[in-house]
Amino acid sequence: MLQSLQSVSRTQVLGVVCAILIASTGMSSQDDAEGVSASHHETQKRIIAAGLEDGFAAEWLETLCDSIGPRLTGSPQMDSAIEFAVKTMRDEGFDKVWTEPVMVPHWVRGNEWAKLTSPVEEKLNISGLGGSVGTPRKGIEAEVLVVSGQEELDSRAAEVKGKIVVFNPEWEGYGPVVKYRGGGASMAARHGAVAALVRSATNVSLNTPHTGVMSYEEGVPKIPTASLTVEDAARMERLTDRGVPVRVRLMMEAENLGARRQFNVIGEIRGRELPDEIIVVGGHLDSWDVGTGAHDDGGGCALTLAAARLLHTLDLHPRRTIRVVLFVAEEQGGFGGRAYLEAHADELDRHVAALESDSGVFAPDGFSVRANEAVVERIATLAAPLKAIGADNVRKGWAGVDIGPIVDQGVPGIGHRCKNDKYFDYHHSPADTFEKVDPADLAGNVSAVAALIWAIAEDGLPRDGAE
Ligand SMILES: [Zn+2]
Repeated sequence: MLQSLQSVSRTQVLGVVCAILIASTGMSSQDDAEGVSASHHETQKRIIAAGLEDGFAAEWLETLCDSIGPRLTGSPQMDSAIEFAVKTMRDEGFDKVWTEPVMVPHWVRGNEWAKLTSPVEEKLNISGLGGSVGTPRKGIEAEVLVVSGQEELDSRAAEVKGKIVVFNPEWEGYGPVVKYRGGGASMAARHGAVAALVRSATNVSLNTPHTGVMSYEEGVPKIPTASLTVEDAARMERLTDRGVPVRVRLMMEAENLGARRQFNVIGEIRGRELPDEIIVVGGHLDSWDVGTGAHDDGGGCALTLAAARLLHTLDLHPRRTIRVVLFVAEEQGGFGGRAYLEAHADELDRHVAALESDSGVFAPDGFSVRANEAVVERIATLAAPLKAIGADNVRKGWAGVDIGPIVDQGVPGIGHRCKNDKYFDYHHSPADTFEKVDPADLAGNVSAVAALIWAIAEDGLPRDGAE
């Protein structure tokens, strides 16, 4: 019946649908918690079963990680990943595939090394932080000053001049410690430090440094900065606590080459009745240049791409349009997400929801929703059938960096969640590689995302869903 309504206006169609829902449940359209019909549940079960059998995401992720490799923003590998994603969407029969230009920062790491020179000479595993300047060709050698954080740094300001400051904050979760990776260089430079080394933002380490983006404060000298392993940072703290002077030589060729043009990749499965209403789903295609970005965020791209593809291969034509967006330059400051907002500002009112997967690929858990209570409740209802795969845990919370700019403008944001206690063990490190992803977990997440976006595409979400 709904097919025959295509010629009437959207408002009329919505009116009819609402009337049907209200008639069948006796509730208003705003709070029709039972509005998802049993037939939806049957279709969702079918989607879940097919997703669990689907090897597409794992195969695609393997190719991305192993054949293309790390996808540092601005790099030729990132260009290859963009081409690969476009080709995939075309080959898999997406209705419309295109790219949108984004001006991205082009930072290159070059060679880098560090060593203890006192009390013994010994190689250190470091990873220069994205955006850092390099050192002179011969490197920088200085005594280190180990501090637990900004408070100790400021209280020992008189000791900083000419030193390499080592930030060794206690792990209290990613949020509290990552500020030293992002801003430690300028904190230290303000007091005259010559370089800053930062304990990796992880709780678990096998002597692996974890990189990530940093930025300089204006008006403060730019000094080189790199991450240290948890082990090396702890050792330097033990030595200096015992009064043993520690010296380090640091050499980094890192360089900022300015901006260059890369692209967000976009592919659509057109809606059968309301093609102008859009559900965005995706992740970020760029990664760091260490490891191959399997969990962060190749997996998120693979599973969202596979979820949209699955609806297509099951011949389910969603009522609204599913738009897969694979963003560029998330790691270096969310450039792709801001470019998407700029390019689509005039159609934001037609964005029903935006879902991002960017917190690793482990066993499915559910979704965190950045929107008002009515939307959170509706999504909980739509996700209820995902209980079968443990993915029905819906709560209010953070949604994603790339979709952040449009969510800030009022589009309901959905963050895909999995049981990711181990995420930061691998995050931004050489250990973030394909074999760390369990294909069964990946398939479970394809099922979860496909079944949820299908239900949203069918039923829509309450209007004015902003937080
Ligand atoms: Zn990420």
